[in-house]
Amino acid sequence: MALMRSLLLAASQNVWLREHAVKYPFVRRSVSRFMPGETLDEALAAAQALQQKNIGSVFTHLGENVRDREEARHVAEHYLAALERLHQQKLPTEVSVKLTQLGLDLSPDFCFENLEQIIRREKESSIVWVDMEASNYVDVTLELYCRALKKYPNVGICLQAYLYRTKKDMAGLLPLRPSIRLVKGAYKEPASIAYPRKADVDENYFALAQEMLRAKTAGQCVRAAFGTHHVALIRRLADFVRQQALPNGELEVQMLYGIQRAEQERLARQGYRSVVLVAYGSYWYPWFVRRLAERPANLWFMLRNVFAS
Ligand SMILES: Cc1cc2nc3c(=O)[nH]c(=O)nc-3n(C[C@H](O)[C@H](O)[C@H](O)COP(=O)(O)OP(=O)(O)OC[C@H]3O[C@@H](n4cnc5c(N)ncnc54)[C@H](O)[C@@H]3O)c2cc1C
Repeated sequence: MALMRSLLLAASQNVWLREHAVKYPFVRRSVSRFMPGETLDEALAAAQALQQKNIGSVFTHLGENVRDREEARHVAEHYLAALERLHQQKLPTEVSVKLTQLGLDLSPDFCFENLEQIIRREKESSIVWVDMEASNYVDVTLELYCRALKKYPNVGICLQAYLYRTKKDMAGLLPLRPSIRLVKGAYKEPASIAYPRKADVDENYFALAQEMLRAKTAGQCVRAAFGTHHVALIRRLADFVRQQALPNGELEVQMLYGIQRAEQERLARQGYRSVVLVAYGSYWYPWFVRRLAERPANLWFMLRNVFAS
């Protein structure tokens, strides 16, 4: 399983595969399980359907490592236009951005300008989420996040439980009243910086999650969101919320579109805050292959699509 994950994560960065694999109809059919479509209109339709089930959403326009200024500006403009549409339609939808798509590889200051425009366009009551990418970006992402948070309280950051450093990073952020989305981590990282065993990642996740919920109760954390599909872990978190005598609405679980739909709906029905991350756009290859790496059984699903009509 670990070998398959490593192979798939290596494939997610392969340029040849990125250019060629996306043309095969069976690959395109497979990705449609995780995305409502490539366009903003398709994402909006998905958000409306989720809203009817009392499920919120977060939009992310796929792309990463943009190395052209015009293109990075274009991404920021896309988010500004998307926010306009979301506000017009009064949808309970936020956005989540990747800093390398906003030009981080070109210059942190240029990237910050793009991020700042998006935060300014968002309502003060909604969070602009910043994704966390591979470990070589963690320092600069946290730096830019803190810079943004000091000016705008409505910005959130993703932290990864597989990194040993995250406990310390979280402790450093809490005095600033952050919003945090905790995930396990989707990239290939060495054992020198990340827990190699899934069981250890899960335990660290639970410990960090408890920390976040305590901080939220103490008013130190604006939003504490848990990005995971791990049902047993979500149940442990729900038990913790109950033990702390917190209302169900204090537990926010974010999942990816198309994964654990029944669980997304169950959480919403039971009064937890259930949110779905809706990804769209044409640059889906690396993102999709990271989804395969998270659950190699998805590969069989893709192979079945080879023979589908
Ligand atoms: C809202 C959200 C935002 C995220 N943002 C980031 C980010 O900014 N940076 C980052 O590094 N990572 C991000 N991730 C990915 C995250 O790090 C994990 O790689 C991913 O969520 C898998 O871990 P898990 O806890 O969901 O499930 P695991 O513990 O790996 O698996 C538990 C169960 O969940 C289900 N499951 C998990 N993944 C899949 C899948 N791909 N397909 C089908 N079923 C699946 C399976 O039933 C599996 O048995 C994000 C995830 C979510 C949900």
